[in-house]
Amino acid sequence: MKTLTLKHAYAAKIKKGFPLILKEAVFSKDDGISEGALIELVDEKGGFLGKAYYGEQNKGVGWVLTQNKEEPIDQDFFLSRLATAIQGRHQLFQSAETTAFRVFNGEGDGIGGLTIDYYDGYFLIQWYSKGIFAYKEAIIAALDEITDYKAIYEKKRFSAAGQYVEDDDFVKGERGEFPIIVKENGIHYAVYLNDGAMTGIFLDQRHVRKTIRDRYAEGKNVLNTFSYTGAFSVAAALGGAVKTTSVDVANRSLSKTIEQFSVNGLDHEAHDIKVMDVFEYFSYAAKKQLGYDLIILDPPSFARTKKHTFSAAKDYKHLLKEAIQITKHDGVIVASTNSSAFGMEKFKGFIDAACKETGTSYTILEEHSLPEDFKTLQSYPEGNYLKVVFLRVHHR
Ligand code: SAH
Repeated sequence: MKTLTLKHAYAAKIKKGFPLILKEAVFSKDDGISEGALIELVDEKGGFLGKAYYGEQNKGVGWVLTQNKEEPIDQDFFLSRLATAIQGRHQLFQSAETTAFRVFNGEGDGIGGLTIDYYDGYFLIQWYSKGIFAYKEAIIAALDEITDYKAIYEKKRFSAAGQYVEDDDFVKGERGEFPIIVKENGIHYAVYLNDGAMTGIFLDQRHVRKTIRDRYAEGKNVLNTFSYTGAFSVAAALGGAVKTTSVDVANRSLSKTIEQFSVNGLDHEAHDIKVMDVFEYFSYAAKKQLGYDLIILDPPSFARTKKHTFSAAKDYKHLLKEAIQITKHDGVIVASTNSSAFGMEKFKGFIDAACKETGTSYTILEEHSLPEDFKTLQSYPEGNYLKVVFLRVHHR
């Protein structure tokens, strides 16, 4: 095992539970360390800090696995982390209303760079580095020992920017016939586990979709921007929205959204699905003097279309200003971001500035972050990337 000596301040952080091995903190280029290698971390006096694995990601170059000197990193290690994680989701596994959720959330469950989701009998493993992928056999053996499943699929996300590597994502078991239909608080969603980087639903918005359906949709005219497969639109429609409009620039979003409406027995023709740039839709809506009671903003952290580059950190305020213009008096905006480039305080700063600059007053109604199955560490708040603010806007 390689030994790495950490400087005082960084060693103190690791002692308090910070799980990430930072690029600048330790390695020199000629170290010759390989993906998956185990590393012993020590302080400047040689005192034991923890054991980690090496794996290059955009965030860092590995994760702490244990702070216990006596604990070996072997088959039992993976078994114990997975068993604890699965026990922690015991209520979700028993739920008849929800059959898709996260089972293992990286460092929050003790192994950074690895997530496992459950989709009604299927497991989807996401590997965020070649380093963690090196432990594939042990991790799958652990799943085999403690769970029953129809099949395992995987996404390799270890290209340079953490992007998905195109592949046949089937690992083992009996191949599924996709879409499979999962349930989330009684809502049906069509899911594809072997069709590129995304599955059709982002599981981290479970509580937000339920909140919209149960408390914000009844009788409302709803605009869902960056709508992808229309998951929020379906939740709003089931909650009694008079009409939903889904806007996404990707061609696939039209058929995917029709499918999500259909698997819930909803008539998609009673709703609008627009394949277009959100910013063009804002201009169009403003020109036509359209007004919405509820607008959902859930953009990607970063996206480039033919006409626009959107970066949440730079452009979220602008996005809000556009949305405010077509929100009815006393209407509600659901402002969501998965950007880990800024935290809740800064996000609320964008909201405040957008309202001030448009002469609007506002009331924050509620806030959400990741659901309980997306376990995070207090010692690593960066891992809690999701920020959702419901605000009521009052035009003056
Ligand atoms: N809100 C969605 C997830 C969004 S994923 C959900 O709840 O499921 C991001 C989506 O934004 C992608 O489908 C992408 O096609 C779309 N997108 C990115 N830039 C866009 C733009 N400028 N206008 C419209 N859609 C955009």
